[in-house]
Amino acid sequence: MQRMGGPMGRGFMTEEEKKNRPKVTKELLFRVFSYLRPYWKQFLLILVCIAFSSLLALYPNVLTGRIVDALAEKQGVDILIKLILLSLGVTIGSSLIGVGQNYLNSWIAQHITFDMRNKMYAHLQQMSQRFFTTNNQGDIITRMTSDIGGVQSVITGTFTSILSNSITLIAALAVMYQRNWMLATLGVLVIPLFVLPSRRAGKTRWELTRESQACSDEINGILNETLSVSGQMLVKLFGKEQYEYDRYKDANSRMIRLNIKESMAGRWFFMVISVFSSIGPMLLYLVGGILMMQYGQDLTVGDITVMVSLLGRMYGPVNQLLNIQVEWIRSMALFTRIFEYFDLPVEIQNAPDAVTPSSADGSVAFQHVNFSYDPERQILHDVSFSLRAGHSIAIVGPSGSGKSTIINLIPRLYDCQEGAVLFGGTDVKKLDLSFLRRNVGIVSQETYLFNGTIRENLLYAKPDATEEELIAACKKANIYDFVQKQELGLDAMVGNRGLKLSGGEKQRLSIARVLLKDPALLIFDEATSALDSISEAKIQEAIEPIIQTRTSILIAHRLSTILAADEILVVKDGRIVERGEHAQLVKAGGVYTELYETQFKKALETEAKSTQ
Ligand code: ATP
Repeated sequence: MQRMGGPMGRGFMTEEEKKNRPKVTKELLFRVFSYLRPYWKQFLLILVCIAFSSLLALYPNVLTGRIVDALAEKQGVDILIKLILLSLGVTIGSSLIGVGQNYLNSWIAQHITFDMRNKMYAHLQQMSQRFFTTNNQGDIITRMTSDIGGVQSVITGTFTSILSNSITLIAALAVMYQRNWMLATLGVLVIPLFVLPSRRAGKTRWELTRESQACSDEINGILNETLSVSGQMLVKLFGKEQYEYDRYKDANSRMIRLNIKESMAGRWFFMVISVFSSIGPMLLYLVGGILMMQYGQDLTVGDITVMVSLLGRMYGPVNQLLNIQVEWIRSMALFTRIFEYFDLPVEIQNAPDAVTPSSADGSVAFQHVNFSYDPERQILHDVSFSLRAGHSIAIVGPSGSGKSTIINLIPRLYDCQEGAVLFGGTDVKKLDLSFLRRNVGIVSQETYLFNGTIRENLLYAKPDATEEELIAACKKANIYDFVQKQELGLDAMVGNRGLKLSGGEKQRLSIARVLLKDPALLIFDEATSALDSISEAKIQEAIEPIIQTRTSILIAHRLSTILAADEILVVKDGRIVERGEHAQLVKAGGVYTELYETQFKKALETEAKSTQ
């Protein structure tokens, strides 16, 4: 979507923009200007620069008249040279001020966006997991980048354009009326003759630009989808090469037609401008000549020249001021969108009286916890259990039963609505958030690795870890063999999101990472996706000894993991329906028995077969 509009589109609003017109209130304006406040001195300086440079820029036009008169009346070469030098000097002076103003302008704009971006980033980092799961990632990034980037053009464009154009216009009119009111009025009357057709042509061109923008978005979409790693895989596996090629070619040829149309509209646009912009001066010459020659009015050739050249200087400002209203609305919409994000409440934050215990034992207790992601559907119902320090619990249950949801409540990725979650005997809502998160380590199903080296990914958990510690963690996580096989060892790259590693390797690496963090409570969300039996065995070998020595919760899908835990909780539809030990639960004939018969036993049999 083209938000700010190109230079051609400045004066026009899309239907969507018209519908979403922001309400400009005093509070909004006050808030916008509050971002300027720290830089008010520089802003004041800009205003002075603008006033000076717009006035000075007009002065050579006035001097042109005097030069023409000096020539016509043969006033002497020295006067002529003086006037020319003066005109040159003024032009240089006004350009120099313009340069300074540009510098100040971009300095302020950059500083304001710098402040806004940092503030927004810090704010977004405080947002809960709910925010990131409900909002489109693309939207979040757009607000961070283009919306805040748009603020720059508001400051460098809208604010300064209002001021400089109004000053130029008023000053030009004043000079013209002071010379001759009749010619000045004629000048004012011919302005619409130029402005209206060029606006019409501009609108046509703007519409074409928008169409080609939409087409280009579509092309980008196709490229993004089909040239990504997984997209390409899908195309290949479904034999869709020709289909995608045709789709791309079709969009591409539409783009070409639009581009040609657009560049032709540009030509018409300039033709219209040049024809109409010559009508005004001709009229002034004609009427000025008649007044001077037939009615003996007190007018010199220089006066008429000044009028004509000032008229030429008025077209631009008039056009730009006509666009200001739309630009203003657009800018306010931009700020409204940004402020909307700033105003999102921080859902999960430290309680004012948050406590930071000296150490954590890793014990967890759920007391009658009810939880829902959205008000319409309750996910957890009256969940209660406790895990003593040094022990381990396996949570099992059908897919979607709420296992991950239970563990999300421990590091406060979400807060429960009713009941309480205790960590080390204290309600998590009363614990210092960074203490809590430092002491809870999660190896999630979807392991996330940054695009960097193995070492960088490990150091994320403990930036000051020594080489020995890194190696020890890798050994414990059963990934050291793999690291050693890499030519660059720990400095091997893991690829974009760890795509250069297999699922099993990624998971073991993230186990190593969490071991470096050394949390009091370790949560392991076992991958449901099928890993080959060797990978699985390696993960198993890694986690079994860890479970024996640490307080841990395991979301388990495999019997061997379940058997390694001290207690098993069976979850179904957000309720703990059974709990106990394996042998006793298998006999009970409930949900666990069913899971055992359908999942675990089969897996056991396959494993047995593959090892035979
Ligand atoms: P699996 O074994 O497949 O990982 P699970 O037992 O861990 O499943 P959860 O991920 O806890 O199940 O999901 C429980 C329910 O909550 C599911 O019905 C799911 O659709 C819903 N759910 C999960 N995350 C969200 C979310 N962010 N917003 C809304 N609903 C969610």
